Amino acid sequence: MSDKKHVYFFAANQSEGNAGMKNLLGGKGANLAEMCNLGIPVPPGFTISTEVCTEYYENNKNYPAGLKEEVETAIAKTEKVLGKKFGDPKNPLLFSVRSGARASMPGMMDTVLNLGLNDEIAEGLAKLSGNPRFAWDSYRRFVQMFGDVVLDLKPANKEEEDPFEVIIEAKKEEKGVELDTELSTEDLKELVAEFKAAIKEKTGHDFPEDPMVQIWGAIGAVFGSWMNERAIRYRALNDIPAEWGTAVNVQSMVYGNMGDDCATGVAFTRDPATGQKNFYGEYLVNAQGEDVVAGIRTPQPVNEATKSEPNQKTLEQIMPGPYKELVDIYEKLEHHYKDMQDIEFTIEQGKLFMLQTRNGKRTAEAAVRIAVEMVEEGLIDKNTAIKRVAPAQLDHLLHPMFDPKATKNVIATGLPASPGAATGRIVFHADEAEEWAEKGEDVLLVRIETSPEDIGGMHVAKGILTARGGMTSHAAVVARGMGTCCVAGCGAIEISYKKKTMTVNGKVFNEGDWISLDGSKGEVIEGKVPTIDPELSGNFGTLMGWADEIRHINVRTNADTPHDAEVARNFGAEGIGLCRTEHMFFEGDRIKAVREMILADNEAGRRKALAKLLPYQRDDFYGIFKAMHDLPVTVRTLDPPLHEFLPHDDTNQQEMAEEMGITLEEVKAKVEALHEFNPMLGHRGCRLGITYPEITEMQAQAIIEAACDLTKEGIKVYPEIMIPLIGTKAELKDQKAVVVATAEKVMKEKGVKVDYLVGTMIEIPRAALTANEVAEEAQFFSFGTNDLTQMAFGYSRDDAGTFLKEYLAKGILEDDPFQSLDQNGVGQLVEIGVQRGRQTKPNLKVGICGEHGGDPKSVVFCHKVGMNYVSCSPYRVPIARLAAAQAQLDFPK
Ligand code: PEP
Ligand code: MG
Repeated sequence: MSDKKHVYFFAANQSEGNAGMKNLLGGKGANLAEMCNLGIPVPPGFTISTEVCTEYYENNKNYPAGLKEEVETAIAKTEKVLGKKFGDPKNPLLFSVRSGARASMPGMMDTVLNLGLNDEIAEGLAKLSGNPRFAWDSYRRFVQMFGDVVLDLKPANKEEEDPFEVIIEAKKEEKGVELDTELSTEDLKELVAEFKAAIKEKTGHDFPEDPMVQIWGAIGAVFGSWMNERAIRYRALNDIPAEWGTAVNVQSMVYGNMGDDCATGVAFTRDPATGQKNFYGEYLVNAQGEDVVAGIRTPQPVNEATKSEPNQKTLEQIMPGPYKELVDIYEKLEHHYKDMQDIEFTIEQGKLFMLQTRNGKRTAEAAVRIAVEMVEEGLIDKNTAIKRVAPAQLDHLLHPMFDPKATKNVIATGLPASPGAATGRIVFHADEAEEWAEKGEDVLLVRIETSPEDIGGMHVAKGILTARGGMTSHAAVVARGMGTCCVAGCGAIEISYKKKTMTVNGKVFNEGDWISLDGSKGEVIEGKVPTIDPELSGNFGTLMGWADEIRHINVRTNADTPHDAEVARNFGAEGIGLCRTEHMFFEGDRIKAVREMILADNEAGRRKALAKLLPYQRDDFYGIFKAMHDLPVTVRTLDPPLHEFLPHDDTNQQEMAEEMGITLEEVKAKVEALHEFNPMLGHRGCRLGITYPEITEMQAQAIIEAACDLTKEGIKVYPEIMIPLIGTKAELKDQKAVVVATAEKVMKEKGVKVDYLVGTMIEIPRAALTANEVAEEAQFFSFGTNDLTQMAFGYSRDDAGTFLKEYLAKGILEDDPFQSLDQNGVGQLVEIGVQRGRQTKPNLKVGICGEHGGDPKSVVFCHKVGMNYVSCSPYRVPIARLAAAQAQLDFPK
């Protein structure tokens, strides 16, 4: 027999556990013990540890030796404290049995209340309490719960009916009453008998009358529930390991259903929706715990602050004494735990008991407000406040959001590609989106997928919806960059460009129809939904200020326009980590010059076209550098395959032919010639600049000229020119030579010196592996983890949407590697790249500009491997700032 302790008793001043023992006692058990230690009234009982659960499964569903005796001892101790006896009809002790894991797992298992009753004991309880109705109501609830939970009669799905509810309904009809509370004691007695008959019929066994058999049945059901399908799925979704196990809490019953001097309720020590410092809760008179949650009767507000209608009766009014006690206790609990608490209580004949306390779940707004106000109140310090808010939660605060009070009819769900809320009229083509927007219409651009030529329409759209594509699809990346709400890869919608319709589950939506998108949830909603604007100052600003004081790495932004740069600066960006120049090539008339360059047969023709682009590019950079004055700006030379700049449908090809003064066939021939089987691995990145150096030359000239002009105006600029997609040192060397030669020439002509750097993206595995060589030519590295992930996994970033969902559902992948960096695999390439780069140049500046730069988990990784900065889309800058601060607290540098 092992001498390991399995059962922990709790009662006023006699608890064997405390709040620090969550791993062993589960959250509920540890906090019950702690409340007893604090002198708070808690009905006594005991907790069977999580280790028993683990051993139970390791030993073929057998309990460890000695458990039976320990449980019996704990029952005896409870009996002694209360002066009642388990199974004694004269003075019965009843228990509740509940699960309680380390992390809260709501809905995993139902509770069994009033355990320890049989016919004889129910009669005894009736006599003792002088309230037969209460005794038989408790009994019928117990038989029902035991049948549902322990004997497994609970319906498996929503269509099936609970056999006990069917019996209750029939009884009410027979007696001609509407509410359960109108049933008489005799009716309840009949119900108990009918429930037992149903159990016998369905299970072939009699209902167990022996309280000891009942208690072991309930304990077994709790441990059994740890491995039910619901619990397994919940754990998988919430990263909870199966080895943690659940504890079982066996607690003596107190009754909220003994009469009108009894009540039961739940409350939060602060408002969980707004964070306001108001005690907030609901209660029911003459009820048991599950009545409050089940919604059978409408709960009432505990106090004035919780009231939603003037004629509601508050607990404060009807039971002022217990309410006052409840206030003292919640204040004590909040001071003790130093966090907002979610509490459960029961009042039995005017006496208050606490049944649970835990840190309460809250909205993003409430999380920020509570964290900041608790620092101001001296309850916690700034570092604790920083850790109290989940960075990803901030997303909800940064974008316009749907009014939580509005009703919504969700018609389809896709990927939550770019957060925010948008309402507008459906438009299927980018140029039409621009036309409609010009007329003052709010439009949503709905596409099968988007491509760079849609950029203008995407810019003016309030939101973007695509039927195909994943989290790093063109639509997703561009929308996040713009801060435009986007739902991507919504497979349930069928789009016909020809008919200008979108069909969802048989319902047809036409161009001009109103829909709404929730980019934070991936929801497509029918019709208009009202939105509200975010508030960035106040508590939010205070918390972000604290984060900035301690974080170690910088946060930059990915931005392609002066407007985006300004937005990001307002969000706290400390520079631009990636300016993708290709987006600039689509604006206005310049696409014509780009196409002219692509169509040209020789260098002279290309140079002629590039000369037309030069002034545009110079103006672009001038605007961006100016918006980002005093801060570094990384500009990347041209990256995408050239075919992306050519039109692919007949109408646009015809238009292009007319503009260029050539035939449609010639356009088609060029498009055909540029077709690649695998363009993402084809003629793109530095390969363009190497084959057409005049492109790099023009871009370098535009960058340095803009920088010189601003320098002359007394504005400080720090351009960093970045070469994409290199796999060898030689590639970088080639392009660097072009940049340096051009820059020197421009500076000489302008008579101005500009501090500029030339560096490279590390986004091909070979570049990471040979980073020591690459660093000989590079003044900085920026990890392009979108491409690096694509190439390390061999998943096309544009097509992965088709199978990734299934991979995630089957658990083949834990996270979408295009959203959260695969630290185990791709992360090794990053680590090697940083390390080998710094072998050559110990002070090499290193950052990341893939989408992962705004993902909190990935930011922590970047901090750990020693990067200097992360760069992310403007709306993620605050998220990255907070994540970086948390990284410094967890892994100080
Ligand atoms: C990357 O590959 O991570 C990157 C930032 O570049 P792009 O997404 O433009 O390919
Ligand atoms: Mg890339």
